Amino acid sequence: MSRDPRFDILFEPVRIGPVTARNRFYQVPHCSGMGYRYPNAEAQLRGMKAEGGWAVVSTQEAEIHPTSDLTPANEARLWDEGDLPALAAVTDSIHAHGSLAAIQLVHNGLHVANRFSRMIPLAPSHVISDCLDPVQARAMDKTDIADMRRWYRNAALRAKKAGFDIIYLYAGHDMSVLQHFLSRRHNDRTDEYGGSFENRLRLFREIIDDTREAVGDSCALAIRLAVDELLGPSGITCEGEGKDIVTALAELPDLWDVNLSGWSNDSQTARFSGEGFQEPYIRFVKSVTTKPVVGVGRYTSPDSMVRAIRQGILDFIGAARPSIADPYLPKKIEEGRIDDIRECIGCNICTSGDNTNVPMRCTQNPTIGEEWRKGWHPEIIPAAAAPEPALVIGGGPAGLEAARALAQRGVDVLLAEGGSEWGGRVARECRLPGLATWGRVRDWRVGQLSVRPNAELYLHSPLSAEDVLQYGIPHVAIATGARWRTDGAGRTHRRPLAFLAEGAVVSPDAILSAGAEAVSADGPVVVFDDDCFYMASVLAELLARAGRAVTFVTPEAQVSPWSQHTLEQGRVQKRLIEVGVRIVTAKALAGRTKDRLDLACIYSDRIETVDCATLVPVTARLPDETLWLELKAREAEWADAGIRSVTRLGDCLAPGLIAAAVYSGHQYACSYQTEIDRDAVPFRRGDIARLYERHAS
Ligand code: ADP
Ligand code: SF4
Repeated sequence: MSRDPRFDILFEPVRIGPVTARNRFYQVPHCSGMGYRYPNAEAQLRGMKAEGGWAVVSTQEAEIHPTSDLTPANEARLWDEGDLPALAAVTDSIHAHGSLAAIQLVHNGLHVANRFSRMIPLAPSHVISDCLDPVQARAMDKTDIADMRRWYRNAALRAKKAGFDIIYLYAGHDMSVLQHFLSRRHNDRTDEYGGSFENRLRLFREIIDDTREAVGDSCALAIRLAVDELLGPSGITCEGEGKDIVTALAELPDLWDVNLSGWSNDSQTARFSGEGFQEPYIRFVKSVTTKPVVGVGRYTSPDSMVRAIRQGILDFIGAARPSIADPYLPKKIEEGRIDDIRECIGCNICTSGDNTNVPMRCTQNPTIGEEWRKGWHPEIIPAAAAPEPALVIGGGPAGLEAARALAQRGVDVLLAEGGSEWGGRVARECRLPGLATWGRVRDWRVGQLSVRPNAELYLHSPLSAEDVLQYGIPHVAIATGARWRTDGAGRTHRRPLAFLAEGAVVSPDAILSAGAEAVSADGPVVVFDDDCFYMASVLAELLARAGRAVTFVTPEAQVSPWSQHTLEQGRVQKRLIEVGVRIVTAKALAGRTKDRLDLACIYSDRIETVDCATLVPVTARLPDETLWLELKAREAEWADAGIRSVTRLGDCLAPGLIAAAVYSGHQYACSYQTEIDRDAVPFRRGDIARLYERHAS
């Protein structure tokens, strides 16, 4: 297939100072959870983006000095020459595919506690660090300012030596000393680096000049700036100082990368924002500079990309998440394979990797982060050498991905789903408020399967053990999913709570199937959240929007605490407040009558009673393993039936994230004929010491 001419504009080369990008696809700096700690994996990840057609591929933030120490986060690090081999591996990997390598230099200022280096954080003024550690940053004196300028300069020189083509100065996400100096909130200096706008801009100007002088002959200089902090007058705004900064520095960099600050504003999930959500804030930038502009907004549609360029909002389509969900997005547009694009669903499971200090993962792309340690590729799976047919039972994310990837390997695959639609939990969850894009997990896989002649797909096909034995297909994957418990057992209450049965209990599954109608009783509803991620909050929102009086009870101190990792917690809590949900924190379940629920304070022995006609417990799930247990009971018959393996996948093996179910399905497809060595580490390991050994030898 060839490219649709209306997308030609996306493939024009664009000059960035002394370098030229081959097209307009730009992977902006994004964390990977790998960084300096897993350098082989980092290099392979970035190289994959270049292979997929991103003309510019950036690192995450690169700490320039031990006073900028984000430990335990796995960011890039450029403290001294010892960090160069790891970064040179990244640039080599990007250059191998003809793309430009960009590095985002950062001094994190008051954003760090320097837990590893134990050095005192540095800031424009004496302020408390913005992490929760009991740490203060000290006000920088003139010697510190001279040091800071030299550290940036040295880091830029090292970055050039490591082979980077574009060097970023980063003033975004409230995570950088350059933004801290700009900010009236953080900077109350009375010298020439504080007070007036020009004074607060001074350090930034000086460091731009220093960097230009040090590396500007061959490297492009990019500025990444937060043009709005969504804090109104107490922060930078796109009508106020955000615009003033771009205007004042307009022609100094070779490229402007503009976005919202902090990170939770910049990387909003689909539950709270749509494609192109940053445009109202960044659209002014091109009117005040002639330099190319890159911005983000979860662009996955090539039509939206073309529009953003034609309307003069952007020169480059910036992407973090769309490039994670589909590293090959540019190539697919270039080759006219629009239907093959694996669109980001905007769930932020990727950010949870960085926020929990582990290599990233993605709901849509199970191969991300596994490029080096498992040798997985987002587009290519080796064909099975002697493929034997497979039967996959269950058409949820695990079954769909297993069937899709098996079919891609050349395996004859039969996928049987008992229900009337594809997608399993995804089909149900994407009908919840704000989660419509999650249906893309199903849509992409069904679309890919539908063009494979070696895949047969059957709905309305609930299979029994007898059916499976009669079919005699050699490899059987059971992906029958899981069901929410209704007995209260979970994290807080490890054993079932018999008293729940004193009143009406409605399972989350019932609401997932029938919507708010599943809660038939009149009277107030209590949603008890012991799961701590999204489910309880979306169910509470659904019920409140349907006019029910909803109380949200959690043993935790806040609503949906795990959604901190997906950068959503604040928005989730705000949403529940706005739709009128009453929130009760730090309470466990203690007793029940028909219309009352006793709640126990988790710290003291105090009991509080709330009205409750219907309880919706969102606690734990149990695998739907009926079929597995029936088949297991007849294991002696497998060989005669021609069955060589039966394997459980996804939620049927252990309930978890949709991302985990997809990953499980992919893993199965990669290894379905292989005897697993249960004693071996199932992936390559790499650490920085090994990389250094390799470079030393
Ligand atoms: P996962 O997240 O692991 O993919 P889901 O719960 O999303 O799990 O999907 C499981 C799917 O399996 C559901 O669509 C369900 O209808 C289907 N299923 C369950 N039992 C059977 C069965 N015996 N035969 C066919 N399909 C089944
Ligand atoms: Fe997009 Fe979710 Fe993948 Fe992140 S994890 S890239 S938000 S699909």
